[in-house]
Amino acid sequence: MLSSLYSIKEVRQIINGQGPIVREATVSVLLTDSRRVINPAEGLFFALRGRRDGHDFIREAYNAGVRSFVVEHEQDDRLSGANFLKVEDALQALHTLAAYHRKRFDLQVIGITGSNGKTIVKEWLYQLLAADKNIVRNPKSYNSQVGVPLSVWQITKDNDLGIFEAGISTVGEMDALENMIKPSIGIFTHLGTAHDEGFANRREKVLEKFKLFKHAGLMIYNYDQLLDYKKDLPTPKQFTWSRKSREADLYVFSETVIAKKYYMRARYQGKEIEALIPFLDEASVENAITCWATMLVLGYEAAEIDKRLEHLSAVSMRLELKNGINDCTIIDDSYNSDINSLEIALNYLNQQKQHQTKTLILSDIYQSGLKQEDLYRQVADMVKDKKIDKFIGVGEAISKYQDYFDILKKHFYPDTQTLLKRLSDLEFSGETILIKGSRSFEFERISRALSQKAHGTQMEVNLNAMINNLNFYRSKLYPNVKMMVMVKASSYGSGTFEIANVLQYAKVDYLAVAYIDEGVALRESGITLPIMVLNPEAAAFDKMVEHNLEPEIYSFNMLDDFVRFAYQQDISHYPVHLKIDTGMHRLGFEDHEIDTLCDFLEDIRYIRVKSVFSHLVASDAPEHDAFTLKQMKRYEKAYLKIEQALGYKFIRHICNTSAIIRWPMAQYDMVRLGIGLYGVDAAMPSHLNGLQQVATLKTSISQIKRLPAGETIGYSRLGKLNKDGKIATVRIGYADGYLRAFGNGVGKMLVKNTLVPTVGNIAMDMCMIDVSDVDVKEGDEVIVFNEKHGIDVLAKQIGTIPYEILTNISQRVKRVYFYE
Ligand SMILES: *Cc1c(COP(=O)(O)O)cnc(C)c1O
Repeated sequence: MLSSLYSIKEVRQIINGQGPIVREATVSVLLTDSRRVINPAEGLFFALRGRRDGHDFIREAYNAGVRSFVVEHEQDDRLSGANFLKVEDALQALHTLAAYHRKRFDLQVIGITGSNGKTIVKEWLYQLLAADKNIVRNPKSYNSQVGVPLSVWQITKDNDLGIFEAGISTVGEMDALENMIKPSIGIFTHLGTAHDEGFANRREKVLEKFKLFKHAGLMIYNYDQLLDYKKDLPTPKQFTWSRKSREADLYVFSETVIAKKYYMRARYQGKEIEALIPFLDEASVENAITCWATMLVLGYEAAEIDKRLEHLSAVSMRLELKNGINDCTIIDDSYNSDINSLEIALNYLNQQKQHQTKTLILSDIYQSGLKQEDLYRQVADMVKDKKIDKFIGVGEAISKYQDYFDILKKHFYPDTQTLLKRLSDLEFSGETILIKGSRSFEFERISRALSQKAHGTQMEVNLNAMINNLNFYRSKLYPNVKMMVMVKASSYGSGTFEIANVLQYAKVDYLAVAYIDEGVALRESGITLPIMVLNPEAAAFDKMVEHNLEPEIYSFNMLDDFVRFAYQQDISHYPVHLKIDTGMHRLGFEDHEIDTLCDFLEDIRYIRVKSVFSHLVASDAPEHDAFTLKQMKRYEKAYLKIEQALGYKFIRHICNTSAIIRWPMAQYDMVRLGIGLYGVDAAMPSHLNGLQQVATLKTSISQIKRLPAGETIGYSRLGKLNKDGKIATVRIGYADGYLRAFGNGVGKMLVKNTLVPTVGNIAMDMCMIDVSDVDVKEGDEVIVFNEKHGIDVLAKQIGTIPYEILTNISQRVKRVYFYE
């Protein structure tokens, strides 16, 4: 993050750290993640106890060059020449330092909270006010207990306005955020259901959020939403807006759509004022009104506000990862550019291991608060730090400072058009390309030119949701229980290395694939985690060993095969996993074979048993609980015998997704997470447990036809409309994985938020849906499944399970990965 300067001595004093200073240092960067270290010489690493204990990563940070640490206990590992400041609570110390920093500046600060819309409102206010103010704000949605201090740390004396959002998930979190942000004006965006599970009731949640405003003079909010909390308002003054009540300060009484823009009229201080915004959806309208109200509070003229609102542009915090031309991978972040989001995007680029070459295409950066010289100096340093191989700068300003960029392959172009014309000269091939541009540079054109063309159907994979789900299951594990993630069948249809890469970054312990080829593909794209192969074929043992993949051994034949192979190749102590059949009767050693197996294992030096495991057949189903218990008993008996025979310990595991929560006592040393990662757990309805569906399947309309009642539709004349109406032909068929069973009204798709049935048979590449009652046009998007219209619902419609729906989506369907 952009920096402030303190000496390490000052920091020690501020946070009341114990321990000697062994090296003088300037602290400008606060670090909390050893994988994302920049400017280590001036970095201060906080060993936070999150889901993983930051103390475990001190050495990694040290190896990256960091020499100053805030820790909670003495380090066994003697790292020479490093400062260790010992504190009671490292997170608290981070807060104290940020709060200290904040108090040194006397700038106006707007604090934003609410259930939804915080980031959009913050970014829109930035768009609206950047012309007159030198603004500091949270990068992206860094609004947590860790994100807020890092954001506040960026305040410099040049800033005259801070806009900070604060997000909480449970009681007792807001006071600390308030103390760092210290807003003078508060904005409460929207009250919704997000994080309800962290609070006893809605009221508790609202009151906790209100704490952000306890020292603010004024609070801006939607009158209609907080009617019930009138008595609890935390500020002496309020500014309200409403679409229903004249009592509000800003009363929006008329709303219409004119030429694809949203036109609103309102009453304010007895006068009629108006606003036109380039968005039509409900959430955007609400957020825009919040911004409108804020601008009025700040004293802007109504006419000036109207002018600025009309130019609001979409805010995308998403990084999109997709396949590019010539075997490139594209990271698309073409909608915003400032130095902090550049840093985040570069970190993400560095996470990608599938190609050697890393390329950055970057436009001029519009950033208030820094001299251009300093700005591009910092950008150049960052590009060097992050070891970018190929740099392409677009814009007059960045071109002016091209000498700063100390990099062999660099190219500069005055504008996007020129780059587009010369694109083929750059010979992109087999590289990861980060595209990062300010809005006005229209880098989406570059992104389109470099991306693989799709046929209109794509599956979006939300990597944030995936991480959320991973962390959800992690939070259910007993201490020290390891996590293996099943990425077989292209990670249940979601992707190969893209998913494995995220899991590796998230530091899961193990991956598992079904076949050797799948494991080889992961190794070739840079996955170094241990990988178990469930069903290895003897013919490919050499490839398996070459790529350091660990076989599941499930029978004597297989054990023989592998031992013979190991003997011939002179391999010893090769890691293997023994599978016990406790009731699935698919693969594995059976009860009566265990004693023989033990005899065999006693003096075998070719293999090393890394784990002994079994698989539950119905861990989600209460009616089979007695059988599940029986499986566990059999498993325990087997591994005890094996442990005795081997004389050493191995990892024990039996839980799949549903068992993690339903059978916690069976977590042993490791669990194997599968479908839960994608947000589906047969043992409980997902909306109740904070899981998020990861995949969205989208297609689009090729043609719309008006048809009279009774006219038949599609192959074999099975489809018919009951009354005159219209149908839409969409670009998905059974070859894409939308099975024929969905035909003739069994399946439903979402069009403009309306569920509509299929009509007639599903064809190979297309099918028809009944859109008689929906206002649609050709080219419109159609959702096959998403968070609201879930995979579990589709599975029920055709009498199958979510696993089959997901893994059926064919390779022809383009996968796009989102990361926020
Ligand atoms: C696929 C698989 C899992 C994961 O099962 P989920 O129900 O998707 O969690 C676990 N163990 C084995 C052996 C598997 O084949």
